[in-house]
Amino acid sequence: MKNKSDLERLEDAKVTFGEHAFAPTEMYCDKCGSQMKRADIEMPVSDYVKVKLKVFICSKCREEMLGLNEAKKLDRALVINRLLSQDYPVSFKRRLSFDGDNYIFRLPSELTKGKHTEVKIIPLESNEALIRW
Ligand SMILES: [Zn+2]
Repeated sequence: MKNKSDLERLEDAKVTFGEHAFAPTEMYCDKCGSQMKRADIEMPVSDYVKVKLKVFICSKCREEMLGLNEAKKLDRALVINRLLSQDYPVSFKRRLSFDGDNYIFRLPSELTKGKHTEVKIIPLESNEALIRW
């Protein structure tokens, strides 16, 4: 556990990212230090979800690494797979109101964090949707 002065110093730290930090054009292996080669792969997340990724592979030790943008793509594929398998580790039940034309529900403020004026609803099935704010 860091002491308070370390945490305060971290809060003051200024972080900058290089031009290619999220989509790097070259990488060096963490294990052996060799320059890695780019490759397009299709990674199965489950029997029915696959994701195409641009990865870096070490020609010496076969270690694979992802840039941040590709890691985000893999993370989204894992979320989609979890949605399709209907294995929701966290969910919220909200009461629906009806104003004569539309159904209305409230989003818990613990989820939304910050001020939002609109949400995007992505229908998944006739009785399922993804809500993004
Ligand atoms: Zn290597």
